[in-house]
Amino acid sequence: MNDDKDKKLEEIKKEVLICKKCSLYKTKHYPVIGKGNHSAKIVFCGEAPGYWEDQKGEPFIGRAGKILDELLDSISLKREDIYITNLLKCRPPENRDPSSLEIKACTPYLERQLDIIQPKIICPLGRLPASFLMEMLGFKDKIKPIGVIHGQLFEANGLFQGVKLLPLYHPAVATYNPAMKEVLKKDFQVLKKFIS
Ligand code: URA
Ligand code: SF4
Repeated sequence: MNDDKDKKLEEIKKEVLICKKCSLYKTKHYPVIGKGNHSAKIVFCGEAPGYWEDQKGEPFIGRAGKILDELLDSISLKREDIYITNLLKCRPPENRDPSSLEIKACTPYLERQLDIIQPKIICPLGRLPASFLMEMLGFKDKIKPIGVIHGQLFEANGLFQGVKLLPLYHPAVATYNPAMKEVLKKDFQVLKKFIS
């Protein structure tokens, strides 16, 4: 337990629940703020809530979530040990890609969450969270397609000294391409050394 972190994350939750910083507030049912251990060493960041997440306000509880659970299980990680959030807190209608305006409006919440939790390693799931977090941690010049940088470990300097970044494919890719699950499983092995 860490009351200070709990309090600060609760404050973000309150803000997101009434947020109108982009138009997605109009079409969402529930925002998905984030869930898990407030002192997690490992944070996963998806793209945005999908249908089920929007219905329940919880991250990764649909089909992609089932695959994420399998991947976590493959390295004996539990959801209680990690924190899971998204680039956007509200669902884009029809699961369309988030716009750059929406990303700009919403990501200050993500930045604050990371600042509070202080993970050792951040795992963006998919292209958009990978690009955003690469830029945030000072790797703008190293941004490449997710097919190139997945499974590569980056270590930040400067403001985020020592924080590591591990870009991963979005687990949803494995729902229509089972071979991708093996690629994801292999990349997840990198996380083993961050489990204490
Ligand atoms: N896909 C995401 O990127 N995030 C979720 O929370 C669920 C599905
Ligand atoms: Fe606010 Fe983010 Fe929801 Fe847009 S997506 S309304 S910025 S919480």
